[in-house]
Order: sequence, then structure tokens, then C-alpha cells
Amino acid sequence: MENEQQKIFNVRNVSEDLVDFYLDECMVRHGACSCSRCIADIRAYALNQLPPRYVVTTAGSAFARARAMSTQAKADIISAISTGINLVKKNPRHDD
Ligand SMILES: [Zn+2]
Repeated sequence: MENEQQKIFNVRNVSEDLVDFYLDECMVRHGACSCSRCIADIRAYALNQLPPRYVVTTAGSAFARARAMSTQAKADIISAISTGINLVKKNPRHDD
């Protein structure tokens, strides 16, 4: 232990990484407003629909693990984003 290089371990929710990864593509496909308020509302909606998926990581390793997730989990993420986009399109809050 004493001679081992110091590694920093973090706990990370890879659902967040994956929502961010698929968000742009989904927003373009659905013609969503891309102002920062709408993006935040869509992210919040999608993340509230999805189970958190925490992993222990060292720097840089989280996304590789996220990409190894099942096809069904990815489909769930894209579906949650798409539902969020449709709700935000119906009730945009960017005029407040
Ligand atoms: Zn907007």
C-alpha cells in the first residue's frame, strides 16, 4: 500500500454522462430549442426518469464503462430525453 501511487477514486452517476452524450443528437432530431433554460429542463426531466447508475471510477474511466451499458439501458435514456424534449416544447419556460 505505502508505495502504491496515489489514485483518486470518485463516485459518478453514469446516467448523467449518457444523457449528456445523447442530448445534442436527440435535440437536433426533434428540433428542440437549444437555449440554456430548455437544455437544463430537458436534462432534469430525463434524469428524473432514469435510475441513477453509480460507478466507482478513477479519472477518465467512467465514460468507457458507461458505453458498455446494455442496449436497453441506452434505449431508456434516449426515450427519457425524447419525452423531456416533447414536454419542454409544449411548455417552454424560456420566456420567464
Ligand atoms: Zn428555450
